[in-house]
Amino acid sequence: NRRFLLVRRPNGTPVPADFSLVTEPVPAPPPGGVVIRNHYASLDPAQRGWMDDAESYMPPIPLGDAVRASTLGVVHASDNPRLAVGQWVIGLGGLEDYSVIGPEGFAAPVDISAVASPSNYLSVLGSVGMTAYFGLIAVAKPEAGETLLVSGAAGAVGSAVGQIGKLLGCRVIGIAGGPLKCRRLIEDYGFDAAIDYKGKDHESLVSEITAAAPDGVNIVFENVGGPVMEAEVFTLAHNARIVLCGLISEYNSPEKVGLRNLWQILARRATIHGFLVTDYASQFGEGRAQMAQWLGQGKLRVEEDVQEGLENAYDAFMRLFSGANTGKLILKIDGS
Ligand code: NDP
Repeated sequence: NRRFLLVRRPNGTPVPADFSLVTEPVPAPPPGGVVIRNHYASLDPAQRGWMDDAESYMPPIPLGDAVRASTLGVVHASDNPRLAVGQWVIGLGGLEDYSVIGPEGFAAPVDISAVASPSNYLSVLGSVGMTAYFGLIAVAKPEAGETLLVSGAAGAVGSAVGQIGKLLGCRVIGIAGGPLKCRRLIEDYGFDAAIDYKGKDHESLVSEITAAAPDGVNIVFENVGGPVMEAEVFTLAHNARIVLCGLISEYNSPEKVGLRNLWQILARRATIHGFLVTDYASQFGEGRAQMAQWLGQGKLRVEEDVQEGLENAYDAFMRLFSGANTGKLILKIDGS
């Protein structure tokens, strides 16, 4: 069982020495639990937060343990009557060939015959798709004709948010890094406007967003934070809603600076709504069904950036922070 362990808490940007790839015997299931042979693992910005010894919505990854990850695989051994050997499941396991999931852990069966690729359960039908769906629909509650601004727009969550926004009749503006991603926002994902944040100062960002949203932004779906968000707040319409989904620009900064232009929130009577997708877990069935329907109707474009091999886990993970990933970043684990 090859396992990609966290052996040291990163100080800022993770370096290879923070991790170690080891081989251990394949474990047996604990009472009431299962052992999953992982085929795919989700690589998520949230994993960077779990590596810190900081207060959050989940405990830190213990040092010496495999990096926690959502995984998709097949039940290898089971002491759980609900999960039979051979059954495909999604679970909260780790970056490792085999994950042990105890009776209190998360492992749920999935029907891979219903999807184009099993990995869809880690992208559009997984937590990323549910984040876009519930963050936009349940939290922001968009109305047709409203202007929606999405940061991190070419990423897994952002590209889904923008497409759902269009399906609901919003005018959608995306912010992403580089001309290629911006072109894709418009040509592939149907955004109305795209803004490249790279190399732009505060004034340029504010004026480009204002030009794209002359009547002001009604909804911000925030994935990034930092200077991008500090510009966005100057473009808000009165009573705007900000769905605070992620702050990836801060994840590798030991000092979290926070939002500097809070006064704009007050002056524009805006609301910032912190959002965690796990709060909607009981409604994932509904969210998955709607996303699957849009997929089947060709109304939703899904991109997956599948990197191969546990031995490449570090390089693959770092794609999230360089922006090299195109769509949902997934690690393929061969499980042998
Ligand atoms: P993405 O596929 O969007 O990948 C991350 C992207 O972030 C990169 O491609 C890069 O795009 C961008 N990025 C990286 N560093 C910076 C920076 N310093 N400034 C601006 N942009 C940067 O990842 P996900 O879709 O998985 O996640 C997007 C966000 O959603 C994250 O903040 C994540 O934490 C959050 N999230 C929150 C959840 C919740 O329940 N609240 C659940 C799931 C995700 P570019 O090339 O454009 O810079």
